[in-house]
Amino acid sequence: MSLNEYRGVWVFAEQNDGRLRRVSLELLGKGRELADRLRVDLVAILLGEDAGKLCTELIDYGADKVLWADDPELRCYRTDTYTKIIASQIMEHKPEILLVGATYVGRDLAPRIARRLGTGLSADCTSLDIDEETRLLQQTCPAFGGNLMVTILTPKERPQMATVQPGVMQPLQKSTRKGEIISIPADIEHKDMRVSRLRVIEETRRGIGLEQAERIVSGGMGIGSVENFKMLGKLAELLGAEVGATRNAVEAGWASSDRMIGQTGKTVRPTLYIACGISGAIQHIVGMKDSELTIAISKDPKAPIFQIADYGIVADLHQLIPLLIQELLRYKGAR
Ligand SMILES: Cc1cc2nc3c(=O)[nH]c(=O)nc-3n(C[C@H](O)[C@H](O)[C@H](O)COP(=O)(O)OP(=O)(O)OC[C@H]3O[C@@H](n4cnc5c(N)ncnc54)[C@H](O)[C@@H]3O)c2cc1C
Repeated sequence: MSLNEYRGVWVFAEQNDGRLRRVSLELLGKGRELADRLRVDLVAILLGEDAGKLCTELIDYGADKVLWADDPELRCYRTDTYTKIIASQIMEHKPEILLVGATYVGRDLAPRIARRLGTGLSADCTSLDIDEETRLLQQTCPAFGGNLMVTILTPKERPQMATVQPGVMQPLQKSTRKGEIISIPADIEHKDMRVSRLRVIEETRRGIGLEQAERIVSGGMGIGSVENFKMLGKLAELLGAEVGATRNAVEAGWASSDRMIGQTGKTVRPTLYIACGISGAIQHIVGMKDSELTIAISKDPKAPIFQIADYGIVADLHQLIPLLIQELLRYKGAR
């Protein structure tokens, strides 16, 4: 493989039923920076039906070019067809970098493309940088069970591939830019359609999504039980906050998986994050470290969460949370 043949930064533009996922715009923001530093084009690759409007949106958010395959069969994600079309476009155009959102779709698609092309893939990156001289993408993500942050390079294969969770990167301001929309063949054969969508069950959501929440009260194993988690919900309600959770608390069945914050869960940026009974493992921290103000409550004064918290309270939650609720109720009653 001659690495010099590979030029350009690509972003997989994920859409579902004609709506772009925000993470694709976030990746275009990062992709724009990488492409400018490498002095190459930023290309979005979009698969979907009647998606002309989405192509324009991708250009408005930073793409120089959009490669678009238009077919009713591509309206929603299909593992085999999406993998085949994108992999064959990569073989033809040879981009040096491909960025994919770490969504359910991206986590299915990216490893398949990487395997087909025989290249590497870094999953759940929390930051990306470029060495302009060597053109190597520096892909930073938690590794070895999350106890370390590592920076991975792909020196011998192309494209250099990374997935990034929603919320980690920021989109550019929308602006009216000029770009090129290029039609690519959908090239779908019956044998590619081993998986088909029978029906869609919409997830019923309470409250707004965690990613949009201004305030989050989050609970970990220190909360102790599902009943105590309900108490956390009461505190959140009084503060106008959403409830978040660590992975362990979700696995214990105390909170639903859409509440999980961290490497495997959501990335959040609220103005206020109250961490209750959370030790502060790196896999949790990567999902909430950009909160404006963090207050941590744990009975362990050595808990790593205190290292990143703006305010730390060493206390037993079972005593403190009822007191906080009582005080908030009194404050609200007095108004
Ligand atoms: C590949 C991988 C991905 C992962 N992804 C995620 C992820 O996305 N999100 C995530 O959160 N985790 C994730 N994890 C798990 C992560 O490593 C930690 O195990 C987890 O975050 C710890 O959860 P916790 O803080 O709730 O529990 P613990 O680490 O057990 O901490 C509980 C804390 O509560 C305190 N406490 C106990 N009782 C009380 C009390 N009565 N009052 C006050 N404080 C009390 C304890 O002192 C402690 O500080 C992942 C792990 C791996 C290997």
